[in-house]
Amino acid sequence: MEVLARADKLLKQHKLVEAIAEYTSTIHKLKTTGSQQVLSSAYNNRGQCHYLQVDFYKAIDDYTDSIKYNPDNTTALYNLAQPDLETVIKSFSKSLSSNFKEYSVKVVDCPDLTVSPWNLAQPGLCGAPSVADVGGVPNLIPTPKVEKQYNLDMVADSCGLPGCYVIGPSAVASKLLGKNAELVNNVKTGKDGVVKSMYTKIVDDEENVFECKKYPHNEFGLLGNLFLCRGLPGKVIHVTAKVRTGSLNFISCLNRGLAEDIPDPVAVGGTFLLTNGKAKLHVMPGFSSCPLNSDDDVNNWLRFFEMSGPLTHTSVFVSKDPGLDLRLEHSHCFSEHGEGGHYHYDTTPDTVCYEGYFNLADSIFRVDPPSETHMIGRD
Ligand SMILES: [Zn+2]
Repeated sequence: MEVLARADKLLKQHKLVEAIAEYTSTIHKLKTTGSQQVLSSAYNNRGQCHYLQVDFYKAIDDYTDSIKYNPDNTTALYNLAQPDLETVIKSFSKSLSSNFKEYSVKVVDCPDLTVSPWNLAQPGLCGAPSVADVGGVPNLIPTPKVEKQYNLDMVADSCGLPGCYVIGPSAVASKLLGKNAELVNNVKTGKDGVVKSMYTKIVDDEENVFECKKYPHNEFGLLGNLFLCRGLPGKVIHVTAKVRTGSLNFISCLNRGLAEDIPDPVAVGGTFLLTNGKAKLHVMPGFSSCPLNSDDDVNNWLRFFEMSGPLTHTSVFVSKDPGLDLRLEHSHCFSEHGEGGHYHYDTTPDTVCYEGYFNLADSIFRVDPPSETHMIGRD
């Protein structure tokens, strides 16, 4: 961009102090006369300078402002018709009965989910429950749009829920972590925020070595499937399932029941444990150097692992897409024994045990949908 050319040149030359001064004076001018798009880029690039200076707090502030001024960051709201809980329990039960040997579904008072092995940042899943689908797979595939970075406080604000509790799968903010990775968001947003998120990344692409660690940031990248609520106690749906007899994974089984029995879209968020057994998970390595043009390309790029329970998942699923270009199911997990990633299915059907707590969303927020879309890589 012409107006940023001088500052951008200084950044390229790694003259960071001079570049920051130049961006700062440009930002002052742009705030009164310039376009929001250029202002967003100026904040983003100044954030990159701060990042290179290892000044992460200033970097985050600038990235946050960059997101605020980006006119592409649009949020659409879809209000859901709330089905009655009895109907949901019946449809979960019917679907579980054809996929698991033993199961139970009931409405309970949400227990304190801050305790191990749930380890959530807030005790409950209640209070203004909503689902937010942010960005999307087209920001990753065929080529990564690394400039697509989001901030949980901004997402909460744009959904009209400032200070809310957010859980769910996303990609990390690669600018902050230095690499792409799987993220479990687990954050109470706002001034009294609590961040208990965990990431799993491939440490060494050659050796296929991964690590699952704390992620002390409010930012994520590319795509996120988030469940937002006040984090309060209240009524939730408790589901257990043991010994898988069908072909569907735990979440697909629940979602299939909703899609078959309830005509309107239903959106659900929550947490589940794979308490016993093992699961097939993937972890994204570094960004692919060549475009990923098919599901086969994506699967050849991803790294797949078999990992052991107990694995704590956060999950969002939607029974039907009301035309918002949604990802219908997405679950990421972490653990206290250093394993985690993107859930596909359990690999030990004879011994597998699941237990989950879920709540129904009142609304779906579609935040910054990609302008060009496709259906590759949505497993
Ligand atoms: Zn994922």
